[in-house]
Amino acid sequence: MSFEFFGGTSPVDVGPVYEGERIRGKQMYIEFGGPKVEKHFELCRVNQDATDGKVTIIGPDIKDMEEGSSVPIGIHIEVAGPQLEEDLEAVFERRIHEFCNFVNGIMHLNQRYTNWMRLSKTAYEKGFDSLNILGAILIRLFKAELPIIEKAQVTFYTDAEKIKEPHAMAMKVYNARDERARGLHDEDVDMYYGCVLCQSFAPTHACCITPDRTSLCGSINWFDARAAAKVDPKGPLYEVPPGECLDAFAGEFSGVNDMIKKRSLGEISRIYLYSGMEFPHTSCGCFEAIDFFIPETGVGHGIIDRSHNGVALNGLPFSAMANQTGGGKQMPGFNGISIQYILSPKFQQYDGGIKMVVWMGKTVKDRIYELLPEDLRDKIATEEDVSDLNDLPAWLEKVKHPIIETEEYKAAVAGVEEEEEWEEEGAMMPVGTVGMTIPGVGGAGGFKVILKNCKIHAESIIIKKIESRRGKKK
Ligand code: SF4
Repeated sequence: MSFEFFGGTSPVDVGPVYEGERIRGKQMYIEFGGPKVEKHFELCRVNQDATDGKVTIIGPDIKDMEEGSSVPIGIHIEVAGPQLEEDLEAVFERRIHEFCNFVNGIMHLNQRYTNWMRLSKTAYEKGFDSLNILGAILIRLFKAELPIIEKAQVTFYTDAEKIKEPHAMAMKVYNARDERARGLHDEDVDMYYGCVLCQSFAPTHACCITPDRTSLCGSINWFDARAAAKVDPKGPLYEVPPGECLDAFAGEFSGVNDMIKKRSLGEISRIYLYSGMEFPHTSCGCFEAIDFFIPETGVGHGIIDRSHNGVALNGLPFSAMANQTGGGKQMPGFNGISIQYILSPKFQQYDGGIKMVVWMGKTVKDRIYELLPEDLRDKIATEEDVSDLNDLPAWLEKVKHPIIETEEYKAAVAGVEEEEEWEEEGAMMPVGTVGMTIPGVGGAGGFKVILKNCKIHAESIIIKKIESRRGKKK
């Protein structure tokens, strides 16, 4: 549909039908934010003095930008209305993702300080040559879709220098929101919340947001979800009564199971809130980080976030693991998470918790270093300490990581040594040995597939069932 706003008519159509549109590198005119750009953010704040309809651009506008370039972007939306409260800011902010994606010719990904947006060449050729157009569209959509917003103004920052101050201010706001959420735990409340905003990308995905489990996009905590469900009970965020607690340690609740069954249209029927290995929470594609199992350690995990450059300890970059993790499926061994959840005492407790994290990308570890348990933080390796999986056991022994005391780790290390001996005895070329783990489906422990002495054809394929050793209280 064509879209009219107070400044004129949009040169491109706008509507929910365009959500999910992909803009590849070759099709893009300009890229805003994303991994190639140092500073970028999007923020929504309540400001009762906002001037309705005002759009400000601080820095070059689209028509002044070089085709194919990646540029900074700060999107600061200020909203006003008598019923607005601070708790609603994060939820409004998350709608920036949805509303930008309504525009035919814009693809928006992620949130907060990882936002990433592309404008297509086609949209530019049709006349989408100014951020004023996007600002006017956002203002109109915010007011139309969220009627409690009476006034809205938008400021865009595209200048690499001038974005620094508002970026620092936005980081402060995100941190304050996260800090507040850390003081509350799942047992302190009698209501959880759900969110289906990402179903346009991952139709079987629904987030369950609890005090300990901030949404995996990192942008909606329990307080935010509660405020959103209160003002718009029929909206994308809704109440989830936890119901009967079926397993407190795993985080299984009858009400959460009922919710996921209904919202995934029967595709998924059980969720363990505190496990990435058995009946894990689904992941859409917006997760801040990935918690991944490292089978060679028996029970150890690694964590990588979006800002990580290069590969993780398992040899995979974030993008490859994200493909494996996302899409709304349950994928034991690969779990999309928020950074905030890593700091919860319930973090994957069913799998051994934070004590079984042996490796973290430096970007995520630097961010939460001070908040990690003091006796553990220097024992978790980053890519600067260990970049080759074969060197991990030596590191873990050196720092006396708690994993080395576990039966699972001892058995896994013994298994690797056994395989190496086998190769020596058989005088085979170790170069041809390939091991990989296939995660189980729907909560099973998975399989390890080892291809030995393979040159062109594999001479043997060993498929080992990995016995589940999880669910032990530590
Ligand atoms: S990741 Fe979850 S909480 Fe965040 S917008 Fe998507 S569905 Fe909602």
